[in-house]
Amino acid sequence: MSKPLKKAHWSPSCCDVCGETKVRALGHREYTVSNRTADFLMQFEDVCCQNCGFVYEQKRPDEDFLYDFYRDAHNRYSSAVEIHVDYDIQARLTPIERFVEKGARILEVGASTGHFCKSLEEAGYHAEGLDPLDQEDDPSVKKGFITERQNAQEHGLYDAIVSYYVLEHVRNADEWIEQLSCLLKEGGYLFLEVPDYKAYPHNSLTFEHMLHFRPHHADLLLKKHGFTVIRDQDYKASRYFGFVTVAQKTGARVEHIVPDFKVEDIIEEAVTLYQKAKEAEQENKELAQKIAQKIKNSAAGISNPVVCFWGANEYASRIVAHLKTETLPLYILDNSETKIGTHHEEFDRPIIRPDEEALPQGDKIFILCSPNWNKDIKEQIQNMKISVSDILDGTLDKNE
Ligand SMILES: [Zn+2]
Repeated sequence: MSKPLKKAHWSPSCCDVCGETKVRALGHREYTVSNRTADFLMQFEDVCCQNCGFVYEQKRPDEDFLYDFYRDAHNRYSSAVEIHVDYDIQARLTPIERFVEKGARILEVGASTGHFCKSLEEAGYHAEGLDPLDQEDDPSVKKGFITERQNAQEHGLYDAIVSYYVLEHVRNADEWIEQLSCLLKEGGYLFLEVPDYKAYPHNSLTFEHMLHFRPHHADLLLKKHGFTVIRDQDYKASRYFGFVTVAQKTGARVEHIVPDFKVEDIIEEAVTLYQKAKEAEQENKELAQKIAQKIKNSAAGISNPVVCFWGANEYASRIVAHLKTETLPLYILDNSETKIGTHHEEFDRPIIRPDEEALPQGDKIFILCSPNWNKDIKEQIQNMKISVSDILDGTLDKNE
């Protein structure tokens, strides 16, 4: 059954960091992302700003398309590159507790189901969440984009604003930061995490991200908005591929900002990192093809094969994309409570709980897709009273 293909209206954007339009082209990427009810065509023109070296998508999809895309993915703002079962809560709390007094009012932008808001409450803060998608799970998370909160009563309302892995998705980062700044008190703090293009270019260049930050550019963008950036190497990100930015609102927005780093070096590095990421993408694709072939071979030898991917993440999506033309029944399993029942890219069936009752009948071929948990998962499978035909590793990298 084929799904309708949704296409966006793409409009050109200037550099989000410095506002310039002169760019060096890096390359083109195109994805057809299969969500719950539709396929979404993502067409990226990756460019590097000639003036400041920031890497971004030169064209941005319209807001309605993005809203439909995230709604249909039902993955909220969590990205497909998420591999770990969860993020590191203490890593998020450490810098907040360093700068923000207990009892302070904190807004989380992109709060998803409100999980981290609960952690903030437990740590002694008054937390509120905001998310563009409906979140029935928690009434403390209000539905809405940040723009909708920009009324006069809310100006300067918050002591701190936190946002994790949202900024890289937004259509206009300049506007977005301006809006957060309006909601913050003078002297208030902003805590941001985004994927690190310098350290993990491949994790930044996904089908969902339009902006590819490294600390230099986060600093520059925030300075433009009158923030003082506090960059402490000790703050570790809550996801392995990200970096933390702490900034204090100390002044007003300035129109023009001059990079305080050697732009030519940053541009050269951006080009090299881009090529590296493209090579890694190609290697991953070839590897996924190989694993898909192993699955087909394994299934060919049994009468009632059922293919079960364990770990709803990019590994599973990449492999299953090569099995679409097969008649094999494909299932996706995950131990994470927040993922069960939701859609996962490339799968037609929702994510199921990996227990004996929930699993379909038949001879199961398991594909282990969680690099950090495959050993535990294998044990969990071996302890089940089910018919297991084969267990394959879906996370082998090119060095193995
Ligand atoms: Zn720029």
